[in-house]
Amino acid sequence: MAQEHPYVFQSGNYEGLSVEQVFLLDPIYLARLYQNSFKNKSSIKNPNQLQLAIESLLEKIHGIDTTKDCLYCKQAKVVNFLLPDFGPVTNGLLCCDNPICREELKSARSGELHAISDFMLMVSYMPRPQAQKIVGIFKATHKNYQEAFA
Ligand SMILES: [Zn+2]
Repeated sequence: MAQEHPYVFQSGNYEGLSVEQVFLLDPIYLARLYQNSFKNKSSIKNPNQLQLAIESLLEKIHGIDTTKDCLYCKQAKVVNFLLPDFGPVTNGLLCCDNPICREELKSARSGELHAISDFMLMVSYMPRPQAQKIVGIFKATHKNYQEAFA
């Protein structure tokens, strides 16, 4: 059972909202805030309340069930998406964790496989249009994700 670290924003655009509410509204904002918080070196050793709250949110995201079947074996649920070396990320470049399916996807396009559930760590350093596509992949493959934060 993940430890809860409630956090409510005290200022800014999302004043009065919890980390989970901001995640539902603007996950990219939250991902960037988390990334930027590590510019302060002392917070790496001693994470602040916001970082702890975001870390328990990330743990929760990992626990959300995937709702989409693998496009290759059509048996397991998708786990990975392909970040292409060239061109846009799309909802069609997904596979489960079976090595055969992973190989099939990798041979379809040159690029790197990433766990969909790690999307928050990736979108923080991407241009917003690409980050939005990756958030879209998470939403399309975890149709009930909002229930985890209800
Ligand atoms: Zn598969």
